[in-house]
Amino acid sequence: MLQKFNSKNEDLLIYVNGTLHPRKEAKVSVFDSVVQGGDAVWEGLRVYDGRIFCLDRHLERLQNSAHALAFKQIPSNSKIRDAIFKTLKANDMRDGVHIRLTLTRGEKITSGMDPRLNQSGCSLIVLAEWKPPVYPPSIKLTTTSIRRNSAMSLDSKIHHNNLINNILAKIEANYAGADAGILLDKDGFVSEANGVNLFCVRKGVVYTPAADSCLPGITRGLVIEICQNNGLPMVERNLSISEFYTADEVFSTGTMGELTKIIEIDGRLIRNNFGTSILSKIQRYFRKMTNELGTPLP
Ligand code: PMP
Repeated sequence: MLQKFNSKNEDLLIYVNGTLHPRKEAKVSVFDSVVQGGDAVWEGLRVYDGRIFCLDRHLERLQNSAHALAFKQIPSNSKIRDAIFKTLKANDMRDGVHIRLTLTRGEKITSGMDPRLNQSGCSLIVLAEWKPPVYPPSIKLTTTSIRRNSAMSLDSKIHHNNLINNILAKIEANYAGADAGILLDKDGFVSEANGVNLFCVRKGVVYTPAADSCLPGITRGLVIEICQNNGLPMVERNLSISEFYTADEVFSTGTMGELTKIIEIDGRLIRNNFGTSILSKIQRYFRKMTNELGTPLP
């Protein structure tokens, strides 16, 4: 699974700190914290038919991540919302769009780690691209040697830009010929894949790893709510990789690829001995949500 360049994205207008720039001119300073230390937080959002899906949940996670990292002069939700609306309007975008929203600690007065060198507030970037869900209908995973950070080191509740762990896992997946790489947690339980959360279904019960070390993904949260609201048994607990190998169904969740069926992990085919597909049922509920919910564009 490799994304391709979409020529529709040639002439994008990208928002950087209050101004819209053509793609080639959209830049941050070399003194920006994201360049100096990956010191930034981000969100990926989707636009469906004139509505931004789960905008409030994404803004809440962004604000919490920035607050946990002690950013100063964090822009308000209404300012961020306006920046997103302005960017979508300028690009005439209402559907089939993915937004990469980045908030950095901002520009430093000189290179260095110390946040006190940041004296002019955060940098806000809104990159909206034409990008329908990127995963094919089904994908293969491999377990990598990369462990997901636990709260002992770098808390996964902060959705930060230090993505090297995830990138290393993706490199291993690429060499293994898989679509994404699984990261186990410090105790060897499944945490998530490099850019998506994981679920398995066993004998009609839906399971997902407890969010001790995975990102508490917004799509993951929606799937949990779908199960709870529709009488589908749902359990969050530590899960070993063998429980995924022997599950009836395995799927990933994320804004980028929505809900995606996993057909193979480490060479083990996922065999549905249960017969019926709970995933298809959850996918139908999820599609109803993307069809009906979201913040309307002005
Ligand atoms: N895990 C990781 C590591 C991610 O980067 C993402 C995407 N931000 C997800 C899971 C999925 O999260 P969400 O459902 O909020 O897009």
